[in-house]
Amino acid sequence: MGKMRPGVGIVGLLFVCLFGPCLAGQERAQDRRKWLDPKTETSDDPRRVPMRPEPRGPEGVIVLRGGRIFDGTGAPVREGTLVIRRNKIEKILPAGAADWPKDALVIEVSGKTVLPGLIDAHTHIDYAETETAAFLDISEADAMLRALERARFFLECGITSIRDVGSLHDVPFRLKEWVSQNRAAAPRVFPAGAFITSTGGHGAEGVDPDILVPKSTRLAEGPDQWRQAVREQFNRGADLIKVGSHFSREEVKAAVEEAHALGLKVGCDAETFYIQWAVEAGVDVIEHPLPRTDETIQLMARKGTEAVPTLIPYAYIFDQWGGYFGSTSRRFTFSKEANLEVLRRMKQAGIKMGIGTDLVIDWFRYLPQPYIRELKYFVEAGYTIPEALTAATKTNSEILDMSDKLGTLEPGKLADVAVFEGRPDLNLDDLAKVEVVIRDGYLVVKGGQVVVPRHIPVVPPEPKEKKGKTFQRQ
Ligand SMILES: [Zn+2]
Repeated sequence: MGKMRPGVGIVGLLFVCLFGPCLAGQERAQDRRKWLDPKTETSDDPRRVPMRPEPRGPEGVIVLRGGRIFDGTGAPVREGTLVIRRNKIEKILPAGAADWPKDALVIEVSGKTVLPGLIDAHTHIDYAETETAAFLDISEADAMLRALERARFFLECGITSIRDVGSLHDVPFRLKEWVSQNRAAAPRVFPAGAFITSTGGHGAEGVDPDILVPKSTRLAEGPDQWRQAVREQFNRGADLIKVGSHFSREEVKAAVEEAHALGLKVGCDAETFYIQWAVEAGVDVIEHPLPRTDETIQLMARKGTEAVPTLIPYAYIFDQWGGYFGSTSRRFTFSKEANLEVLRRMKQAGIKMGIGTDLVIDWFRYLPQPYIRELKYFVEAGYTIPEALTAATKTNSEILDMSDKLGTLEPGKLADVAVFEGRPDLNLDDLAKVEVVIRDGYLVVKGGQVVVPRHIPVVPPEPKEKKGKTFQRQ
């Protein structure tokens, strides 16, 4: 408990701590935004770093003419035309209108469905594949190339943002930067950096910390080190913090308090009573469908704790290996059916849930099926198809802490758009028929395939006559 405000009675204090913003530290990462004038231009990430006001994205206007628009706001699908100027959605015109500049790039999308760019809320963009040799596993160069290949696959699924909850090296940070300059065919990357856990925790089981710590994991012992580990990820450029059991109550509390003060949300990979401790500590998002009590689910609902249940990776584990064996951080009984039941219970409790695939080893090669399958699990748990698509777009943007800029098709939002053949709002399998993808106003997928524009040669500077000066390497 931090400093108490004077004048708050004990009953009020209890109420506030159980049901409202707790007095210890920043209850929410967004508290930091109060210090920014809403008119201030900021980076398009949860860090909200003030930026010099200037035009962003490509010059010109792109028009997606005459499609079925699913805008992600909950409104029914309607016929319309989407007008994109630079990197923002300028307007959505009624079908038949033609109010755009003559030199606009017009793409016919009649009969096709226009969606907000999909988001994957749980990725590890550069983890090694089953076949990867150990020396390549730790190679930064190979990790970067692995990430680039996967990023392309995601983009060709209509996925324009990924929430990367633990990757090797600086790969997700560098990829994020290159994407922001449109220099890589990839979705926007929102990186957590390294996953924070304690000795023997998930992802670090049986690893001798003195010999080898996987570079995607940051081991930390005690609240001070957990706080320090959060600061390290922030310093690298993290857009969120990812922690995981095992931890003490004090450790997870310290991490949450530090992350929220820095303006970052915290996602937590946990199970059983660790979920309860994480929710009590103020963790924002619980990852995975692992066992938890009804009491914990009710607490999540009351506190507004979100969830990214990721059923699909466990389905692959149970299908391909017959069970989840040999893990000291997964000492409980679960199954595909039990996971679906957790999803149903969370849905019934009204917990906000997003779509994440958690594709590791070579599962990304199955795309887009894992993403579609995850949406189908949501439908099995009681969502309608449009509600599941909303989870993949609007809700995922809320989980990312980016809902004011991403997740729906509305004027003023960033232009992340995906066009599909058919009607994915009626049949999820149509999500496999990607036609066009626009990310940050750039046309990045055409005819279902990543397009890389031809390099435009830069004219060298005019020769300068400078007597007596010779070329010097800087
Ligand atoms: Zn994961």
